[in-house]
Amino acid sequence: LNYFVAENQSLKKYNTLSIASTAERMIFPLNEEGIKDVFNNCDGRKIIIGKGSNILLSRSHYDKEFIFVNMKLMDDIYIAEGEIYAQAGVTLSELSWYALGHNISGFEFLEDIPGTVGGAIIMNAGTYNNTIGELVSKIVYYDIEKKQIISEENQGDFFRIRSSKLSDKKIVVLGAYFKSQHGDYSVSLDKVLATKKDRYTKQPRNFSNAGSVFKRPLVEGELQQVWKLINDSGLRGVRKNDAEISDKHTGFIVNKGNATYEDIIYLVNLCKEKVKKEFNIELELEWKII
Ligand SMILES: Cc1cc2nc3c(=O)[nH]c(=O)nc-3n(C[C@H](O)[C@H](O)[C@H](O)COP(=O)(O)OP(=O)(O)OC[C@H]3O[C@@H](n4cnc5c(N)ncnc54)[C@H](O)[C@@H]3O)c2cc1C
Repeated sequence: LNYFVAENQSLKKYNTLSIASTAERMIFPLNEEGIKDVFNNCDGRKIIIGKGSNILLSRSHYDKEFIFVNMKLMDDIYIAEGEIYAQAGVTLSELSWYALGHNISGFEFLEDIPGTVGGAIIMNAGTYNNTIGELVSKIVYYDIEKKQIISEENQGDFFRIRSSKLSDKKIVVLGAYFKSQHGDYSVSLDKVLATKKDRYTKQPRNFSNAGSVFKRPLVEGELQQVWKLINDSGLRGVRKNDAEISDKHTGFIVNKGNATYEDIIYLVNLCKEKVKKEFNIELELEWKII
């Protein structure tokens, strides 16, 4: 058995914005053979998802033309040749606690990012000071067109600001090896807790959201603060039905109940237009529209 199939699934729990939507077909590969089977033998447009914490669902229903490929069950994690290997479906929180439990440092900042290894590698997830790319030594992925599993060293400009060499390629991240530096459990634990406290204090965690809406724009070599641009455009707390530009942190759009794609995209476009008008800066969406 290489994968499970689930039919007529609600997608509400598979996207952290909690947009109501349904999918006629969702497949959960169990291993690399399962990925090959799905991509070579199942007809339909494949949509890969990890934790759904960086996606915006644009349809209220995905019919049989689509297959959601949910990476959740590819969640092995182990030490191999002195490095951590984590499959794509391992959550960043699990990876962080695994490193901590093995006295390996450097993974503390990942604990509070609610994605998977696969999703994080695609967009080089990170915080203000750190990115996952800095920890990766090798990436293992399935090249859908070549029908090959490829192991690639992390060299040169593989990872960039909130993107990677794989961002626009037809591939499935299968897993990654992570450089593993000896650390101290209690020091790492303190860092995890301090990061979590800081982020919970600043971010609107009481409402469904998908993290930062836009990438930080680079203006004359300097990364700008998106929340400030949106705030200074007068958009704090602006609502469209149940969608809101968070009044706690203007870099987030939250779902206060039954927000739809149309409500959310209205606010996304409003931010883009106002920031362009006020500051002549083009905001680029960090989320992937599906
Ligand atoms: C409260 C909150 C806080 C957040 N904070 C941060 C933060 O500090 N820093 C940050 O960078 N992000 C942050 N995010 C956004 C998000 O958690 C990250 O972008 C995360 O890496 C997305 O992973 P995911 O598994 O949820 O990907 P998904 O949202 O499921 O997918 C995102 C994209 O990756 C593709 N994808 C997923 N898995 C694979 C795979 N195995 N192979 C190929 N393609 C794949 C999908 O097709 C999609 O295009 C936050 C989100 C929330 C809700």
